[in-house]
This record gives sequence, structure tokens and C-alpha cells, in this order.
Amino acid sequence: MKNQDVIARIAEISKANPGNLMARHFNADYFTSLNDADQQQLLKICASGTQNPDSSMGAYAMNPNDYDRFAPQLDPMIRDFHGINADIPIKQEHDWDTSRNICDLGAIDARLKDVSMRVRVARNASTFPLPGAMSKQQRVEFEILASSAFDELIKNPEYGGQYLSITPGSPNEISADEYASRVGAHQMFKDMSADPYLNVAGISGDWPYGRGMYVSKDEDFLVWVGEEDHLRIMAMQSGGNLNAMFARLATGLEILGQLLPPFATSPTYGNVTSCPTNLGAGMRASLHMKLPNLTSGGTDLSQLKQEAKNLGLAVRGAGGEHSDAGSDGLVDISPSARLGVTEMQIMQRLYDGAAALWALEIER
Ligand code: ADP
Ligand code: MG
Repeated sequence: MKNQDVIARIAEISKANPGNLMARHFNADYFTSLNDADQQQLLKICASGTQNPDSSMGAYAMNPNDYDRFAPQLDPMIRDFHGINADIPIKQEHDWDTSRNICDLGAIDARLKDVSMRVRVARNASTFPLPGAMSKQQRVEFEILASSAFDELIKNPEYGGQYLSITPGSPNEISADEYASRVGAHQMFKDMSADPYLNVAGISGDWPYGRGMYVSKDEDFLVWVGEEDHLRIMAMQSGGNLNAMFARLATGLEILGQLLPPFATSPTYGNVTSCPTNLGAGMRASLHMKLPNLTSGGTDLSQLKQEAKNLGLAVRGAGGEHSDAGSDGLVDISPSARLGVTEMQIMQRLYDGAAALWALEIER
């Protein structure tokens, strides 16, 4: 397609799909002002939303510096998604200090003492292109680099565990059955090659090369390699003590940070991620909660989504993004904001939001 045709196509999408933020904010004047190489790069960034009109963001960065390099196009989209007005400077601060907040879900209701809790941060190495632009060789190279960091974690008695690879021929390669069972256990990521949004962006390219997961011996600290970002570093626990889980992530992240090349950051947007929705803290903290009354027994998420939105929370099905609720009303709730909020604020929002949703649930 010629560039003029792409511009026309994006204009059509913005009319038919007002939720597509790339199309909504596509700046044709800015685009035309760029040289050929920059135009090509920007079209690659916007390809997912151009070929998938129903995208909600519609763009993925290809290189760590894309957000700063193409700010005239990307900044308005980022602000729209994260709810930051044009006249307010974006400021990403960090706070991992758990001593000031007490976030024990059991204090809301004894029935919330054993929910499944997960918190993940997205991180990318500054020394590689982002996953959408990596070659097969770079994917495999990055996995080898990451697994040498995991070797150190495995030697550490606080972590132990193993690295499980799905790269064909890797010394750590696991069987198809084990992969499926780890996906079913909510530990490992799904087959990305089936995802049209990630496909067009190149993020699922060369699947399954360069992909794998570190898991600690207690299975409460995990690291995904080669999903939507180079690394998704997470803690998962069942219980109610959000702070304990958060602290587990903080410590593991600190150790990994010392073993790996510097993570990509932007002076404006904090941690750099493939998807603009994850910029900033790069953190998604979620609970798997059973809310049968608010979901009509798991059959209808629309009302819960509205209530959750008012509380700054997003709702996903129990199998992750784009999945349905469980029949017992099991859903995934997490604070939507990641940029301009600190890590501790995200945890606090999750706690407060869970308390508010639970009050609505038991009142029915
Ligand atoms: P993310 O994009 O934050 O990595 P996804 O929605 O892609 O999250 O989900 C990844 C996996 O994590 C899925 O298997 C999902 O069911 C699981 N998951 C998310 N939150 C929780 C939780 N609180 N407890 C258990 N599993 C969870
Ligand atoms: Mg995801």
C-alpha cells in the first residue's frame, strides 16, 4: 500500500472504530513531515492497529527510543489511554516501600484470605530491539543471556527452581505436555502465534524461539522470557497478604536488575514497554476473585466492568486478557493505570478496589 492509501485507511478506521487510539490520534501532518525511513518506522509501529481496526491501542513500539523519537504521534495516544491531560507534565516516580501500607485482604473479609494474587512488571533490555523488531537470532541470544541470570537465581537458596524453555533444541526444552500444563496452571504464557494483534506487530515472530520461563522452587517468583516484552517478572501467591507478594517481586527484580543489561527507560515515560498501555511502572497487579453476583454466575461481565471502571479497575476473564469468566464468577481484576502512578499506589488501588467490589458483591 502507498503511504497516501495508508493515511486514508487510518482516517476511515478512526470513523468506524473510535476506540482505536492510534487511528483517533493519527497525525497525518506530522507523518508527512518525516523522512522516508521515519515514515516506514512509524507505519510499522502503527501496523497492528491499521490491520486490526478493533484494536484498543493499535500501536506497539519497536525500539526502546521510539516513544521519545515519535512523541508527536505517540504522546497523545499515551495520554488518552492513561487519562493524563495535555497540559500536565508526565512524571513517573517509583515507590516500593511496603512499610506504610497494610494491604491484607483478610482484613476486608475472612473469605478473602486465600485469593490468588499476581503482580508483574514488564521490563526490556536497552541493548536489544523490542520484541516486535527482534531477529530470530536476537531472540535466542537474549534467552541465553537471561538464562545465565537465572543460573545465578537457581544457586540462591531463596529462589532455586528451574528455567523451562520452549525453544526447539534448547538444553532446557520442555515437552509440549509440560508447556500445556504450565499454561493451564496460569504460570506460562499462551501460544502467541495465534494472536492477530501481536502477529502483525512482529511480537510473536519466530515463535517459539527465544521463549521460556524461569520458575522458583516455591513457584511464587516467575519470569517470562520473550512474550510481549523481553521480560515479564512476577510474583504469584495465594493468600491475602498483598505486601508479602509485592516484597517478593521487589527483591527478585532488584537481584535480576544486577544480573542483566540495564533496562530500557525513557526520561518521560519511565519503564519502556512494547505496548504503550504498560509504560511507566509497567506493573499489573491482579486478583482472581469470585464475584458470582456481579457477573450473573460468570455469564455477563458488562455490569462488573462498569462498576470496576468507576474504581479505576479493569476486568479480565480467569484465563487472562480476552478470556471469559469462570462459571463460578471467577474474574481477574487489576488497576488500569500504570503510568504516572507509583508501584505502591497500584497496590493500594487494588486493595481499595477489591474492598469496594466485594462490598457490592455481598450486598446483592
Ligand atoms: P499479563 O498481560 O498481565 O501478563 P494476562 O492477562 O496475559 O496477564 O494473563 C497471564 C496469565 O496470568 C493468565 O494465565 C492469567 O490467568 C494469569 N493470572 C493473572 N492474574 C492472576 C491471578 N491473580 N492469579 C492467578 N493467575 C493469574
Ligand atoms: Mg498480556
